Amino acid sequence: MTELKNITVLGTGVLGSQIAFQGAFHGFSVTAYDINDEVISKAKARFAQLADIYVADNVGGAADGGAQRALQNITYSTDLAEATADADLVIEAVPENLELKREIYTKLAAVAPAKTIFATNSSTLLPSDLKDFTGRPDRFLALHYANHVWRQNTAEVMGTTDTDPAVYQAVVDYAVASGMVPIELKKEKAGYVLNSLLVPLLDAAAELVVGGYADPETVDKTWRIGTGAPLGPFQVYDIVGLTTAYNISSANPSPLAQRFAKLLKEEYIDKGKLGTATGEGFYRY
Ligand code: NAD
Repeated sequence: MTELKNITVLGTGVLGSQIAFQGAFHGFSVTAYDINDEVISKAKARFAQLADIYVADNVGGAADGGAQRALQNITYSTDLAEATADADLVIEAVPENLELKREIYTKLAAVAPAKTIFATNSSTLLPSDLKDFTGRPDRFLALHYANHVWRQNTAEVMGTTDTDPAVYQAVVDYAVASGMVPIELKKEKAGYVLNSLLVPLLDAAAELVVGGYADPETVDKTWRIGTGAPLGPFQVYDIVGLTTAYNISSANPSPLAQRFAKLLKEEYIDKGKLGTATGEGFYRY
């Protein structure tokens, strides 16, 4: 399998912008695709912000011109055929909606060259849900990043039973070459590795607090001292963001999740405490 050099990222939102910038920072030629010029101009502002963040976070070489060079490695497009004309790898990071993603893959399959590998960054859909719309199930898999890709630099690689092992390996190699730590899944699993571990921990922490057994500080202290982990689950909630936590809990009909959603809304979100992003959540920063 030849090396993947030209990368196209579909969607320049929270994750798509980070995925594109990370590739560009590591010297790849990246095309950022989104639906219209207005969104693309917002994307340019996001990329400029990421350049500053890489410098502020001391990402290797960012301050010595690396962040500025990354910006020069990105081109922009609102035309899917043009954006993918010479793409070795397309990473899809459009909103988490099955119908929308199926529509995008149907369009992509019609315009992208036969050589192009497609990867979805979906957090909750399995690549099997999408593979029949790609026109190339052997060249399709999931490549799942975590928010703040330059710091939380896992890249979970997960194929379907149709994915060609050489394609899988080429994507693992791209992950390494773009500064990520590949997390190789041997078969499909909802939640990949990270969320399969993290979600039950966060749920258990919520249950302890909602049930009145312990307060967030006690839960976190227990986890830190008892396991040596640097952060407790409520510190993780603050990083994830309490709006995201609320959206997940409120969509879950279980009584526990509903009680946790109510707590998040009334005690935190309605008071502007959204987590580290606003300087206060379960903790003050
Ligand atoms: P987002 O809403 O921030 O960004 C989505 C982007 O897709 C927007 O720029 C939007 O204009 C664009 N878009 C909409 N329709 C499009 C289309 N038809 N073609 C191309 N682009 C289109 O979403 P996000 O949080 O970046 O999530 C994107 C994907 O990444 C989802 O599948 C999500 O599960 C996954 N993900 C998100 C996170 C996270 O923390 N936000 C973490 C890991 C994975």
